[in-house]
This record gives sequence, structure tokens and C-alpha cells, in this order.
Amino acid sequence: MSARFALPILAYHSLHAPGSTYATNDHLALEEDLRTIRRLGFRFVSARAVADALATGDDRSLAGRCVALTFDDGPNTDFFDVRHSELGLIKSFRTILAESWGAHALWRAVAGRRHAIATSFVIASPEARAVLDRTCFAGRGDWEDGWWPEAVASGLFHVANHSWDHLHASLPTVAHSSQEKGDFRKVCSLEDADAQIRAAHEFVDRKAPNPGSRLFAYPYGHWNRFLADEYFPGQPPGREHTVAAFTTDGALATEATNRWLIPRFVCGDHWKSPGELERLLRDVPAR
Ligand SMILES: [Zn+2]
Repeated sequence: MSARFALPILAYHSLHAPGSTYATNDHLALEEDLRTIRRLGFRFVSARAVADALATGDDRSLAGRCVALTFDDGPNTDFFDVRHSELGLIKSFRTILAESWGAHALWRAVAGRRHAIATSFVIASPEARAVLDRTCFAGRGDWEDGWWPEAVASGLFHVANHSWDHLHASLPTVAHSSQEKGDFRKVCSLEDADAQIRAAHEFVDRKAPNPGSRLFAYPYGHWNRFLADEYFPGQPPGREHTVAAFTTDGALATEATNRWLIPRFVCGDHWKSPGELERLLRDVPAR
């Protein structure tokens, strides 16, 4: 029996740009990969469309060979070009998408806000982002949220939930009852999950109301049975905040996928060259 749908969801990090080669710069990788994906005849669908298909069982929006694009952590480089002292101009993911879709202007006419091309999973907490801007960047204010509404309005992006503070190891304090850092599997109580997931959803949805705010990507790809089997499925009726959650487990999403554990492939991890991505895409069964 063949799958009703099987699609790869790809994840990129605009923060990952230490060099100027495909393997060392996710911006260059994304630009190259968009050409590969188009050449192989894939259609782009939003992560929210995959979530909705799994939530409702109606997968008509995923007809044909599809791929979904996601970006993690939400630094400004998702949306703004930066001029780097050694590498020169680094095109933002937004610029790369806009250039790629400029040649496909019809897309805008048929898409709507529900069908953005890419989904940026952002860290919600402004305090956490301010610290991470210093510890992961140069401390020039490159991890803001002002771009979120503009990104949604562009039609290119959904802005989604990547937790309150990522339990990031370089933060002085994190929203967790016993200050567990660097391991999202330690989120195993209702209180901690609400602090990391519900609060982040509410923040993103206030700043930039959009269909992506109900999607969650596990920080570090870390998930646990409490979150997948109890917390998400047990959201109180009428107060649901999340439709689906995404891992980095490196597999195709199919109709049999648990929507609280939707796998993604990570650039630099599950594929490291244009050829490896092409092999991955060629393995996707036609529906
Ligand atoms: Zn992350």
C-alpha cells in the first residue's frame, strides 16, 4: 500500500553562517537548494498545511510532490540582509525567498496568508533574545521581533513558536522550575510546559497574529513522552494553543505521522551537499 502523502520538511538556521561555502553557510545552502527543489518539480507547502492535514485527515492540499521549508531560532538574519566584515553581503532568507519567487509572481495571487512559503520558528522571550544576541552574535541587536509582523504581511513567512527561551545554556535564568538548561527533555510538568510553550505562543500571537503561531518546534529537536503523549494531546478544550509540534528526527512526514512529533530534516545534519539533498528528494515517493 502506498502512502497517501510523504513529504520532506526541511530546516535551516540563518544563524549558521561562519563561512562562505554550502556546508558552512545555510544562506548559500538555501539558495542552492531552492534551485534543486524547483528543478525536481516539487511544490512548496506551508508547515501549517502539513499540521492541518494531520489534524483533520484532509490532505488534499498536499497533492503531488511537496516540500515544506522551516527556519529555526528567528534571528534577524531570517529577514534582514547583513554586511559581514569578511564574508561581504549575506542575503537574508527573506531576500533569497523573494528572489526565487520573484520569477514566480503568480504564486502571490493564488496563495494567501494560510499558505506562506516558509515558517520561522522564533524564540519568544525578548530578554532571552537580548542575551543570545550577545552570546551567539556580536551584540548589535540582531535578534529582534520587529520583523515578525512584516514577515507575515509579506506573504512569504509564517512566524511560529520555538519556545519561550529555548532553555538555552548561555542564559543566566530560564523559565523552568528547577533551572534545567540545554535539554528540552527536562520540560516534563504542566507548569514548565506552559511557561515554555503556552506563554511563547501567546507572545508570538500578540506580536504577529498568524497561522504559524499554533505550530511548535522542539528546541534542539528534544522531545519527550510527557509533551508528545500528555501535554499536547491534553490541551484543555477551548484553550488549545498548538496544532502540531516538529522534531528534527530526519524522516518524511506521512499520513501516519504523530502530529506532536512531525519529523524534519536539518541542513548540515541530514544533508551536507546539493547532491545529498537531491538524493533525499529523489527518494520521496510520488503520490
Ligand atoms: Zn533552536
